[in-house]
This record gives sequence, C-alpha cells and structure tokens, in this order.
Amino acid sequence: MEKGSLLYEGKAKKVYATDDPDLLIVSYKDDATAFNGLKRGTIVGKGVINNRMSNALMRLLEREGIPTHYAEELSERDTLVKKVRIIPLEVIVRNISAGSFAKRYGVEEGMAFADPTIEFSYKNDALGDPLLNEYHALALGLACREEIETIKEYSFRINDVLKDFWRSCGVTLVDFKLEFGRLPDGRVILADEISPDTCRLWDSKTGEKLDKDRFRRDLGGVEEAYREIMRRLEEKTEGTR
Ligand code: ADP
Ligand code: UDP
Repeated sequence: MEKGSLLYEGKAKKVYATDDPDLLIVSYKDDATAFNGLKRGTIVGKGVINNRMSNALMRLLEREGIPTHYAEELSERDTLVKKVRIIPLEVIVRNISAGSFAKRYGVEEGMAFADPTIEFSYKNDALGDPLLNEYHALALGLACREEIETIKEYSFRINDVLKDFWRSCGVTLVDFKLEFGRLPDGRVILADEISPDTCRLWDSKTGEKLDKDRFRRDLGGVEEAYREIMRRLEEKTEGTR
C-alpha cells in the first residue's frame, strides 16, 4: 500500500490517505512535545520505537479480543490502520498516582490505587485538553451513552492486559492515555498509539522512569530509556507477529 496525500500532520505522527478509503497510513516522527506544545524537541529513534511498540501492543490486544485500528506494519515508521472518526476524548487510566493526578489532588507520586481509575479530557488543543466527566461528554455531544460504556469497558480490559504484559517485562504500568474512534458502521475501536509517549512505565525494581517523563522533566537518558523499554518488549514479543 502506497502513501497518498498528506491529510494531517500532528505533533508525533503524519497521517496519509491510501487508495482504499477505509485505510490510512500513519508515519511516526521523532518530534517530541510536552505541555500542550510549549516544550519541543527530538528524541532520536522514537518514531521507530513508538511505531513498533504500538503495533506489538495492538496485536496483543486484538488477540485478547479488543478491536483496534491496527492493520499492517509497512516499515519501521509506517503503519496501515483502519480509518476512524476519532472520538475527541483522551481516556486516561491510572493504577498509581503520578503527573497531573498527583498535582491536582495534592498526593505524592507512586501511591498505588486499590482499583484503577479512569478520567476523560476533551481532546481540544486550543482549550488545553480540559478534564471533563461523562455527563459533560454527553452534553457536548462528543459521544453517546453506549459509546462511553464501551470505551470504559475496553479501557479497563486494556489496562488488565497491558498491566500483566508489562509486569512480565519487569515494568510497572502506572498510567496511560487511549483514543477511540468510530468505524463507518459505527463500531468503536481503539485507535491512535500506545507507546512510551502515552504511558508511564516504571522499572518494577528500581522505579526508574522508562517513558516520556524523562523528556518532560529533563531527567536525561531519554533515548536510552526508549531503547531499554523497547528491548524489554521485544524480548517478550519475539515470534508473535
Ligand atoms: P496530535 O493530533 O495530538 O498532534 P499525532 O501527531 O499523534 O497527535 O497525530 C495523529 C492524529 O491522528 C491524532 O489526531 C489522532 O487522533 C489521529 N488518529 C489516530 N488514529 C487514527 C485512525 N485510525 N483514524 C483516523 N485518525 C486517527
Ligand atoms: N498523556 C498523553 N497525552 C496527553 C496527556 C497525557 O499521552 O495529552 C498520557 C501521559 O503520558 C500519562 C497519562 O496520559 O501516561 C496521564 O497523564 P497526566 O494526566 O498525568 O498528564 P501530564 O502529567 O502528562 O500532564
């Protein structure tokens, strides 16, 4: 499948049309941004890692019965995906307090929850992705009640699968962001990416951060952390394509 016209260039990926109106090609870049685009930089090799990791995790989720947009990995940075109409919600699942949760509620990072939590932001850069609840999402017409129920059910199932997978790699899944979209027939599937850009991943033994917080917080060793988390994933997923 060949890249057609460039439909959209985002902060981390480019999106191309294809000959098939139901399929897109996403191309992962090394560009990194944080704080709604205020901080910008490059993480060398990130595009390759995020592409391969996201695809491996989506294949794993598909095997566990979660429908995703993944179709075919075309090259180290390019993947064929099912085209969806993105539901403009950032769905965040958390197992342990960190980031904006710790700040908002005045708790330490690293507090393990008895049960995972979920929250939604309105995916709207101009507004800075404000937090909202299900009723706000309904009021704004961002999704209907059934879609929100499906999104919640999938998100917690995805958390169970990913938490177990990362545990087997010696990594604690702290939190992550998901995006969902609608297929032409209205079915809701997982879209976008699952990568160190969109997850917090801590070494289970040392607590070392192996994700984008190294870039956000200027911790150094950014490329090394992306390579290390990829090495651990590949050790577990070899031969599962
Ligand atoms: P952003 O838009 O936040 O800068 P990216 O650089 O990752 O993010 O751009 C990718 C864009 O493609 C995002 O807006 C995302 O919602 C969208 N997208 C992801 N998967 C699909 C898909 N399967 N179909 C249509 N759009 C998608
Ligand atoms: N996240 C993301 N995109 C966003 C906001 C958050 O992928 O626009 C991810 C982030 O990597 C983390 C989780 O969602 O794994 C929770 O992020 P949080 O709300 O704590 O926000 P942050 O501290 O990154 O501002």
